[in-house]
Amino acid sequence: MFRSLHIKLMLIMLLLITSLMTIVGAFLMTSVTSFYVDEFYQQMANIFGADNEAFLRNLRSEAAQEDGLEQVRGILEGNAGALGIDYLTRNYYILDGVTGEFLTGSDEEGGKQLAVTTNILAARNGQVGDSSDITASYMDLAYPIQGGDNFFIIYIYDNRETVSQLNSQLFLIIVQALLVGLLISVLLSFLLSKTMINPIEKLTEGAERVAAGDFGNAIQVESSDEIGVLTTTFNEMASVLEETLHTVENERNKLDTLFLHMTDGVVAFAADGSIVHCNPAASDMLENDVEIMDYQSLFGALYPLEELVQLQRPNYKEAELHIHGKFLEVYFAPFAQEGGPGVLTVLHDVTAQRKNEEMRKEFVANVSHELRTPLTNVRSYAETLRDSDDIPKDTANSFLDIIIGETDRMTHIVQDLLTLSRLESGRAELKMTRFHFGDAIENVCRAVDLEAQRHRHTLCRAFVHRDLPMISGDRDRLEQVMMNVIGNAIKYTPDGGEIRVSAGTAGDKVWMEVSDNGIGIPKSDWNRIFDRFYRVDKARSRESGGTGLGLSIAREIVQRHGGTIGLTEHQGPGTTVRIVLPIRQDGRPEEVGHEG
Ligand code: ADP
Repeated sequence: MFRSLHIKLMLIMLLLITSLMTIVGAFLMTSVTSFYVDEFYQQMANIFGADNEAFLRNLRSEAAQEDGLEQVRGILEGNAGALGIDYLTRNYYILDGVTGEFLTGSDEEGGKQLAVTTNILAARNGQVGDSSDITASYMDLAYPIQGGDNFFIIYIYDNRETVSQLNSQLFLIIVQALLVGLLISVLLSFLLSKTMINPIEKLTEGAERVAAGDFGNAIQVESSDEIGVLTTTFNEMASVLEETLHTVENERNKLDTLFLHMTDGVVAFAADGSIVHCNPAASDMLENDVEIMDYQSLFGALYPLEELVQLQRPNYKEAELHIHGKFLEVYFAPFAQEGGPGVLTVLHDVTAQRKNEEMRKEFVANVSHELRTPLTNVRSYAETLRDSDDIPKDTANSFLDIIIGETDRMTHIVQDLLTLSRLESGRAELKMTRFHFGDAIENVCRAVDLEAQRHRHTLCRAFVHRDLPMISGDRDRLEQVMMNVIGNAIKYTPDGGEIRVSAGTAGDKVWMEVSDNGIGIPKSDWNRIFDRFYRVDKARSRESGGTGLGLSIAREIVQRHGGTIGLTEHQGPGTTVRIVLPIRQDGRPEEVGHEG
């Protein structure tokens, strides 16, 4: 399998070798050619140069002879060695100085086919033709000899065959060297790839593992060169990265836990209004599938998103939202995030506070109302007594009775309110004792017996006294609760009714039920009758001296004991109130038996 870095390395080496050999070859071949050319002209200069004046003079005088041509040829023949004439590649020719025509020479055939070169033309003009052209396929020298009437041109011509052969030899050697070089470079690239690319590959594998989140194995450092340093640095980087990731993850976990468990809702919106994050508290508060909601549908009516995005920290906006029966305080603040700014919304559920406020207002209104009626009565009777002198004693006494009655009523209300407030605030201490549950019920039944008889009610005790256990609690207060419940049954049942008190044990709890066949309570009022001052039938309650606080107090007392009080389903007309109390306050069951 070819690895790209390996191929690259091999290609570079091949290119390097090829270009090196090409340059060396070109340089060698050019050098050989120019050496040969230089050598040629040097040889020529040695013979025909100005330094060799005696030889030239002799040449000219010999040329002036009758047989000048033969004489000159003889001289040239005599200097053939010095001129490098080999009769194959280099020859000498004697040409006619005027026409340039071949007269004689070392190569008859070649002489007849001689071309007119620039050097021959120069010699014909009486100048030495010794210009050289390295690119030409030949070298030549044309030397004019003027001896008497004879005008010859000595023409030395070399067809460069020798240098061409030499260059061909050289080219062959270079090509062979190149092939060997290429082979070596291929082998070298394999060797290099083993020492260089293998560590890089290991580094790559390590980087891939780190990218996939596996920080477990550090890469082994095998050398101390640059790759070794890189590997060490990479290992250090991976461990720092791991630490940083852990820190970030811990922070994120903390934040996640915070978001998950905080009671305030947090919703983060992107600049386009889509939800980026929403904690469970927010989902509960908005009671919507928040995944499909966006800013516009949730809070668009409060502030436009564009306005919030442009807010500068630490500025924020707040608003109140009434949604799904809840009152939410909403705080908006911008935040920066990747891909543009967003808006963070914190939702604070103030429903309970609002309800408390409402209840407080309602309570004050109720108290005022409850006290105003008796106060008005007291005032009007008192005024009548003050303003009329001739009121008969009986009438005056009955007025005073009314005033006393109304004052008692007010005292009753105020006492009940005080009891309730003490219970609610926890200031009223429970005097915990152990007593027999059956005894307490019996006690209450005895106390209300007379009242029941007055209304011709049948008070039926439907419980087996000895089956009931000892319980712990504040006996007086619990009897007050039973009294209230049985008292209500007596009050709200037309005369001659039947009131049934039953009780029993269920697990670690005791229960008591008071049923009557009276006027009953509409189901819609079942929960509300435990609210302060709530009365189903106001006139009837007032008539019977009720304050509308009895059941509220009863519920407080029962709840302080860790029990429950409520209405249960009732067959036929009437009402059933059920009280459930734990047998022991610390959870241990009491033994069944009698007190003392
Ligand atoms: P009150 O002093 O008016 O009796 P409570 O708090 O004891 O106040 O009771 C609240 C209201 O619940 C009563 O006004 C009455 O309308 C209703 N109620 C309580 N017990 C009964 C019952 N056994 N039958 C019918 N209505 C009842």
